[in-house]
Amino acid sequence: MELSLVIPCYNEENNVVAFFNETQRVFADLPITYEYVFVNDGSSDKTAENLSLLFEQNESSNIKVINFSRNFGKEAAIYSGLENAEGELTCIIDADLQQRPEVVLEMLSVLQSDGDIDCVCAYQSKRRESKPVSFMKESFYRIINSFSDTEFIRDASDFRLFRSNVKQAVLSLTEYHRFSKGIFAWVGFNTKYIPYEAKERNDGETKWSLKKLFRYAFSGITSFTAAPLKAAAGFGTLSFIAGLVYALVEIIRIAAGAAAASRLTLLIILLLIIGGIQLICLGTVGVYLGKVFSQVQNRPICIVKSVLKREKTEK
Ligand code: UDP
Ligand code: MG
Repeated sequence: MELSLVIPCYNEENNVVAFFNETQRVFADLPITYEYVFVNDGSSDKTAENLSLLFEQNESSNIKVINFSRNFGKEAAIYSGLENAEGELTCIIDADLQQRPEVVLEMLSVLQSDGDIDCVCAYQSKRRESKPVSFMKESFYRIINSFSDTEFIRDASDFRLFRSNVKQAVLSLTEYHRFSKGIFAWVGFNTKYIPYEAKERNDGETKWSLKKLFRYAFSGITSFTAAPLKAAAGFGTLSFIAGLVYALVEIIRIAAGAAAASRLTLLIILLLIIGGIQLICLGTVGVYLGKVFSQVQNRPICIVKSVLKREKTEK
């Protein structure tokens, strides 16, 4: 098998067959073998039935259908799809035809034209979002990029085509709270970004409410940086220093002959210093907790892309 299409589906009853037919049409002259890995993410509509029919009626096409016991979310569907994908190359693509199969052909030709490229990622050239959502996304990338060691590219979607080395690397990250954008950035490899235009949804509605997007963004930040945990230490240090400076100013003032500091001044100085010490302690706990967190995530320590070494000859 040369190419696997991984298609997460949640309540896409009117899209799965259309997706299959469109892809068959566009891929008609494709000289490579390919398979469909549909992951039905606990749909409550007729997605499962329609996928079963598709499977029964198209014996000659390589179709796999994985049905989840409930809705686990797109990230889980992607993971399971990758686990079941047998192609040398894998493409993650939505079921709603917003991401066109024609773009997959484009990505294929990019990957095939250059053996050094491991992954082709399509990013939306035209944004279909309101100003507030756009602002939120902009802020999200600014925050996460300033704290995280991994670089997050704006608008990079999970509409990607990649080689099996990238697939294996992504599968080696077994963390429960998954954030694909971050995971693909974290595993590295040579990624080429190409623009694409997201079309209108073939049928149905987006599964992303503002609340869901917000939760997803927050989960992404907390999966890829322990900075919020350590932030307390920063505030604490500031407060502690402010307390010391305030105390010093008061001492100098009194030494110069001014009246003794008032009770309020003493209280503020104490609050700043004691509060600062407490926050520093909290931040220190945060640093350890951050380490425990990354250990519990159990990510591989590194991902090796290739090795050059000479075989030892027997003497
Ligand atoms: N999806 C999924 N599980 C979910 C939500 C979405 O598998 O819990 C799938 C959905 O069926 C679609 C893809 O993820 O194929 C993208 O979802 P959607 O079109 O709602 O997102 P948008 O294109 O609006 O970002
Ligand atoms: Mg969509």
